[in-house]
Amino acid sequence: MEQRRKILPGERVCQICGKDEHTTEIVPAVLVRPAVAKIIKEKYPEWSSEWFICMDDLNHYRNEYVRTLLELERGELSSIEQEVVDSLRTHELLASHVTEEFESHLTFGQRLSDRIASFGGSWKFIMIFAGVLCVWMFINTVILIKKPFDPYPFILLNLVLSCLAAIQAPIIMMSQNRQEAKDRLRATHDYKINLKAELEIRQLHQKIDHVLSHQWERLVEIQEIQLDLIEEIRKYRSKELVPIKPESSAR
Ligand SMILES: [Zn+2]
Repeated sequence: MEQRRKILPGERVCQICGKDEHTTEIVPAVLVRPAVAKIIKEKYPEWSSEWFICMDDLNHYRNEYVRTLLELERGELSSIEQEVVDSLRTHELLASHVTEEFESHLTFGQRLSDRIASFGGSWKFIMIFAGVLCVWMFINTVILIKKPFDPYPFILLNLVLSCLAAIQAPIIMMSQNRQEAKDRLRATHDYKINLKAELEIRQLHQKIDHVLSHQWERLVEIQEIQLDLIEEIRKYRSKELVPIKPESSAR
Protein backbone atom coordinates (compact mmCIF):
# COMPACT_ATOMS: atom_id res chain seq x y z
CA MET A 1 0.00 0.00 0.00
CA GLU A 2 2.70 2.47 1.11
CA GLN A 3 5.33 1.48 -1.40
CA ARG A 4 3.08 2.12 -4.39
CA ARG A 5 2.84 5.79 -3.52
CA LYS A 6 6.58 6.35 -3.52
CA ILE A 7 7.30 6.19 -7.20
CA LEU A 8 10.37 7.15 -9.09
CA PRO A 9 10.23 10.36 -11.14
CA GLY A 10 9.16 9.68 -14.70
CA GLU A 11 7.68 6.29 -13.81
CA ARG A 12 3.99 5.93 -14.58
CA VAL A 13 2.31 3.70 -12.03
CA CYS A 14 -1.34 3.48 -11.03
CA GLN A 15 -1.36 4.77 -7.46
CA ILE A 16 -4.59 2.97 -6.71
CA CYS A 17 -3.80 -0.64 -7.62
CA GLY A 18 -0.03 -0.41 -8.18
CA LYS A 19 0.05 -1.67 -11.78
CA ASP A 20 2.69 -0.05 -14.02
CA GLU A 21 2.42 1.01 -17.62
CA HIS A 22 3.88 -2.29 -18.91
CA THR A 23 0.95 -4.36 -17.67
CA THR A 24 -1.88 -1.90 -18.28
CA GLU A 25 -2.65 1.50 -19.75
CA ILE A 26 -1.98 4.42 -17.44
CA VAL A 27 -3.72 7.78 -17.64
CA PRO A 28 -2.46 10.97 -15.96
CA ALA A 29 -4.81 12.33 -13.31
CA VAL A 30 -5.15 15.68 -15.08
CA LEU A 31 -7.08 13.93 -17.84
CA VAL A 32 -9.67 12.54 -15.42
CA ARG A 33 -12.94 14.48 -15.41
CA PRO A 34 -13.32 16.69 -12.29
CA ALA A 35 -16.58 14.99 -11.35
CA VAL A 36 -14.99 11.54 -11.48
CA ALA A 37 -11.91 12.85 -9.68
CA LYS A 38 -14.17 13.97 -6.85
CA ILE A 39 -15.42 10.41 -6.40
CA ILE A 40 -11.85 9.10 -6.36
CA LYS A 41 -10.87 11.79 -3.87
CA GLU A 42 -13.57 10.58 -1.50
CA LYS A 43 -11.83 7.19 -1.33
CA TYR A 44 -8.26 8.48 -1.68
CA PRO A 45 -8.01 11.88 0.00
CA GLU A 46 -4.37 12.23 -1.15
CA TRP A 47 -5.48 12.22 -4.79
CA SER A 48 -3.76 15.02 -6.71
CA SER A 49 -3.38 16.02 -10.33
CA GLU A 50 0.16 14.53 -10.38
CA TRP A 51 -1.15 11.02 -9.85
CA PHE A 52 -1.63 8.35 -12.48
CA ILE A 53 -4.50 5.94 -12.73
CA CYS A 54 -4.90 2.74 -14.71
CA MET A 55 -7.71 2.34 -17.21
CA ASP A 56 -9.45 -0.39 -15.16
CA ASP A 57 -9.65 1.77 -12.06
CA LEU A 58 -10.71 4.82 -14.05
CA ASN A 59 -13.55 2.89 -15.67
CA HIS A 60 -14.59 1.54 -12.30
CA TYR A 61 -14.89 5.07 -10.88
CA ARG A 62 -16.64 6.32 -14.00
CA ASN A 63 -19.24 3.60 -13.57
CA GLU A 64 -19.62 4.51 -9.93
CA TYR A 65 -20.09 8.16 -10.82
CA VAL A 66 -22.79 7.41 -13.42
CA ARG A 67 -24.52 5.10 -10.99
CA THR A 68 -24.60 7.74 -8.22
CA LEU A 69 -25.97 10.28 -10.72
CA LEU A 70 -28.76 7.94 -11.75
CA GLU A 71 -29.59 7.09 -8.17
CA LEU A 72 -29.67 10.78 -7.24
CA GLU A 73 -32.04 11.37 -10.13
CA ARG A 74 -34.34 8.61 -9.00
CA GLY A 75 -34.31 9.95 -5.45
CA GLU A 76 -35.21 13.47 -6.60
CA LEU A 77 -37.99 12.24 -8.83
CA SER A 78 -39.59 10.26 -6.04
CA SER A 79 -39.33 13.28 -3.70
CA ILE A 80 -41.19 15.42 -6.30
CA GLU A 81 -43.88 12.77 -6.57
CA GLN A 82 -44.17 12.79 -2.80
CA GLU A 83 -44.63 16.57 -2.88
CA VAL A 84 -47.44 16.27 -5.40
CA VAL A 85 -49.18 13.62 -3.30
CA ASP A 86 -48.82 15.77 -0.18
CA SER A 87 -50.23 18.84 -1.89
CA LEU A 88 -53.16 16.82 -3.16
CA ARG A 89 -53.87 15.54 0.30
CA THR A 90 -53.44 18.76 2.30
CA HIS A 91 -54.82 21.39 -0.10
CA GLU A 92 -58.23 19.94 -0.64
CA LEU A 93 -60.29 21.38 -3.45
CA LEU A 94 -61.25 25.01 -2.71
CA ALA A 95 -63.91 25.31 -5.38
CA SER A 96 -67.34 25.06 -3.80
CA HIS A 97 -70.83 26.33 -4.49
CA VAL A 98 -70.75 29.58 -2.54
CA THR A 99 -74.18 30.72 -3.67
CA GLU A 100 -75.90 27.50 -2.65
CA GLU A 101 -74.17 27.50 0.72
CA PHE A 102 -75.15 31.14 1.30
CA GLU A 103 -78.77 30.53 0.40
CA SER A 104 -79.08 27.48 2.63
CA HIS A 105 -78.49 29.75 5.68
CA LEU A 106 -81.29 32.25 4.87
CA THR A 107 -84.31 32.63 7.18
CA PHE A 108 -87.89 32.49 5.94
CA GLY A 109 -88.27 36.30 6.07
CA GLN A 110 -85.09 36.85 4.09
CA ARG A 111 -86.13 34.36 1.45
CA LEU A 112 -89.60 35.96 1.23
CA SER A 113 -88.11 39.43 0.76
CA ASP A 114 -85.86 38.08 -2.00
CA ARG A 115 -88.89 36.58 -3.74
CA ILE A 116 -90.89 39.79 -3.45
CA ALA A 117 -88.00 41.88 -4.68
CA SER A 118 -87.48 39.66 -7.70
CA PHE A 119 -91.21 39.60 -8.46
CA GLY A 120 -91.47 43.40 -7.99
CA GLY A 121 -88.77 43.92 -10.58
CA SER A 122 -90.36 41.89 -13.35
CA TRP A 123 -92.54 42.71 -16.38
CA LYS A 124 -95.12 40.28 -15.00
CA PHE A 125 -95.58 42.51 -11.95
CA ILE A 126 -95.91 45.67 -14.09
CA MET A 127 -98.52 44.04 -16.35
CA ILE A 128 -100.58 42.70 -13.45
CA PHE A 129 -100.31 46.04 -11.65
CA ALA A 130 -101.42 47.98 -14.70
CA GLY A 131 -104.30 45.52 -15.11
CA VAL A 132 -105.43 45.96 -11.50
CA LEU A 133 -105.30 49.76 -11.85
CA CYS A 134 -107.39 49.68 -15.03
CA VAL A 135 -109.97 47.32 -13.49
CA TRP A 136 -110.20 49.48 -10.35
CA MET A 137 -110.77 52.64 -12.39
CA PHE A 138 -113.17 50.87 -14.74
CA ILE A 139 -115.30 49.56 -11.84
CA ASN A 140 -115.47 52.99 -10.21
CA THR A 141 -116.22 54.95 -13.36
CA VAL A 142 -118.38 52.63 -15.46
CA ILE A 143 -119.87 49.67 -13.50
CA LEU A 144 -120.54 51.37 -10.15
CA ILE A 145 -121.28 54.78 -11.68
CA LYS A 146 -124.23 55.31 -9.32
CA LYS A 147 -122.45 54.43 -6.05
CA PRO A 148 -118.66 54.03 -6.52
CA PHE A 149 -116.62 52.88 -3.45
CA ASP A 150 -113.72 55.04 -4.68
CA PRO A 151 -114.96 57.88 -6.89
CA TYR A 152 -112.77 60.01 -9.15
CA PRO A 153 -109.92 61.06 -8.39
CA PHE A 154 -109.48 57.60 -6.71
CA ILE A 155 -108.23 58.64 -3.28
CA LEU A 156 -108.41 55.08 -1.90
CA LEU A 157 -106.35 53.81 -4.86
CA ASN A 158 -103.81 56.54 -4.09
CA LEU A 159 -103.57 55.34 -0.50
CA VAL A 160 -103.16 51.72 -1.54
CA LEU A 161 -100.43 52.67 -4.00
CA SER A 162 -98.51 54.74 -1.41
CA CYS A 163 -98.70 51.85 1.10
CA LEU A 164 -97.44 49.42 -1.53
CA ALA A 165 -94.52 51.73 -2.40
CA ALA A 166 -93.69 52.24 1.29
CA ILE A 167 -93.52 48.49 1.92
CA GLN A 168 -91.76 47.60 -1.33
CA ALA A 169 -88.86 50.01 -0.82
CA PRO A 170 -87.46 48.45 2.39
CA ILE A 171 -88.03 44.95 1.02
CA ILE A 172 -85.97 45.77 -2.07
CA MET A 173 -83.27 47.34 0.10
CA MET A 174 -83.07 44.22 2.29
CA SER A 175 -82.72 42.09 -0.77
CA GLN A 176 -80.02 44.36 -2.16
CA ASN A 177 -78.03 44.19 1.05
CA ARG A 178 -78.13 40.43 0.93
CA GLN A 179 -77.07 40.45 -2.72
CA GLU A 180 -74.12 42.58 -1.74
CA ALA A 181 -73.13 40.15 1.02
CA LYS A 182 -73.37 37.31 -1.48
CA ASP A 183 -71.16 39.18 -3.94
CA ARG A 184 -68.62 39.87 -1.24
CA LEU A 185 -68.50 36.19 -0.32
CA ARG A 186 -68.09 35.22 -3.96
CA ALA A 187 -65.27 37.73 -4.40
CA THR A 188 -63.39 36.31 -1.40
CA HIS A 189 -63.88 32.82 -2.74
CA ASP A 190 -62.64 33.83 -6.18
CA TYR A 191 -59.60 35.44 -4.63
CA LYS A 192 -58.79 32.23 -2.76
CA ILE A 193 -59.07 30.17 -5.92
CA ASN A 194 -56.89 32.60 -7.84
CA LEU A 195 -54.28 32.52 -5.12
CA LYS A 196 -54.26 28.74 -5.10
CA ALA A 197 -53.98 28.61 -8.88
CA GLU A 198 -51.07 31.02 -8.73
CA LEU A 199 -49.27 28.91 -6.15
CA GLU A 200 -49.87 25.74 -8.13
CA ILE A 201 -48.54 27.39 -11.26
CA ARG A 202 -45.47 28.52 -9.38
CA GLN A 203 -44.93 24.97 -8.16
CA LEU A 204 -45.28 23.67 -11.70
CA HIS A 205 -42.72 26.21 -12.83
CA GLN A 206 -40.28 24.95 -10.24
CA LYS A 207 -40.81 21.37 -11.35
CA ILE A 208 -40.25 22.23 -14.99
CA ASP A 209 -37.17 24.29 -14.10
CA HIS A 210 -35.83 21.32 -12.19
CA VAL A 211 -36.35 19.02 -15.15
CA LEU A 212 -34.79 21.52 -17.54
CA SER A 213 -31.71 22.36 -15.50
CA HIS A 214 -30.81 19.44 -13.21
CA GLN A 215 -31.80 16.52 -15.34
CA TRP A 216 -30.40 18.00 -18.48
CA GLU A 217 -27.13 18.80 -16.75
CA ARG A 218 -26.81 15.22 -15.54
CA LEU A 219 -27.64 13.74 -18.89
CA VAL A 220 -24.90 15.86 -20.42
CA GLU A 221 -22.43 14.65 -17.79
CA ILE A 222 -23.34 11.03 -18.43
CA GLN A 223 -23.02 11.61 -22.14
CA GLU A 224 -19.55 13.13 -21.72
CA ILE A 225 -18.39 10.01 -19.91
CA GLN A 226 -19.89 7.85 -22.63
CA LEU A 227 -18.02 9.89 -25.23
CA ASP A 228 -14.79 9.30 -23.30
CA LEU A 229 -15.43 5.57 -23.29
CA ILE A 230 -16.22 5.54 -27.01
CA GLU A 231 -13.02 7.44 -27.71
CA GLU A 232 -11.04 4.87 -25.73
CA ILE A 233 -12.70 1.96 -27.49
CA ARG A 234 -11.77 3.59 -30.79
CA LYS A 235 -8.15 3.99 -29.66
CA TYR A 236 -7.96 0.36 -28.53
CA ARG A 237 -9.40 -0.88 -31.77
CA SER A 238 -6.96 1.12 -33.88
CA LYS A 239 -4.07 -0.20 -31.69
CA GLU A 240 -5.28 -3.77 -32.07
CA LEU A 241 -5.58 -3.40 -35.82
CA VAL A 242 -1.98 -2.23 -36.26
CA PRO A 243 -0.23 -5.50 -35.32
CA ILE A 244 -2.76 -7.59 -37.19
CA LYS A 245 -1.91 -5.92 -40.50
CA PRO A 246 1.72 -7.11 -40.89
CA GLU A 247 0.67 -10.59 -39.71
CA SER A 248 -1.91 -10.90 -42.45
CA SER A 249 0.45 -9.51 -45.11
CA ALA A 250 3.20 -11.96 -44.07
CA ARG A 251 0.91 -14.93 -44.57
ZN1 LIG B 1 -5.12 0.78 -11.06
